[in-house]
Amino acid sequence: MRDYIRRLLIAAIMALCVSLLFLGGKQTEASMQESREIKEGWIWPADGVISDTYGTRHGTHKGIDIAGRLNSPIIAVEKGVVDKSYYSQTYGNVIFIKHPSNYVTVYAHLNNRLVQAGQEINQGDRIGTMGRTGESTGVHLHFESHQIAWTFDKKNAIDPEMLLGYTEVGSTVMGGKTGSTESLAASTNIKGDKVRYIVQAGDTLSSIAKKSNLSVIQLKEVNQLKTDLIIPEQVLVIQQ
Ligand SMILES: [Zn+2]
Repeated sequence: MRDYIRRLLIAAIMALCVSLLFLGGKQTEASMQESREIKEGWIWPADGVISDTYGTRHGTHKGIDIAGRLNSPIIAVEKGVVDKSYYSQTYGNVIFIKHPSNYVTVYAHLNNRLVQAGQEINQGDRIGTMGRTGESTGVHLHFESHQIAWTFDKKNAIDPEMLLGYTEVGSTVMGGKTGSTESLAASTNIKGDKVRYIVQAGDTLSSIAKKSNLSVIQLKEVNQLKTDLIIPEQVLVIQQ
């Protein structure tokens, strides 16, 4: 009888060991998923065309500019907590997000802010809409990334391209997509892709029509323009 109890005990202990192993395994699987999520990278925060990159204006431009349509969605590049959401003279309507990967991202010149400080958000959540508030010459998103914390002198700023993928002025980016972008010239070959163009000083609708595969009338139709008036930094769709 004693033998039987001993065997039963041994069996119970072994079962416990096996279940502990199993649980341990599940835990490492969970933490692996967590780290994979961060490595998989950030997604672009808006649809548009890159109109300026990091380090320009004699090194003072500590972010990347994405020119797009007024009130188009601005989304979070990674999950995190809203650190600040307010109106600043320079940034205009601006949102700061603190991420678990220890980066802080900044979304500036928004037309509307849709989140409040302290709010938890997931990657891809809509946080605001594109605008031209604060010191901004046209409708665009000014996006910054900082390690650990944002400071007034922006000494922790890093080039967003390191996290979002390589790009260049004139490249089209898609909100919610990861990785590098196609240049405007390369992307004109992609069937069905709506290629966008940033209006430069001196451009007219007919000069843009010559560069694109649309006529002036089609350009006006596609971009819902009521007059021939276009302004620098305005973003136009130039392919159907
Ligand atoms: Zn900028």
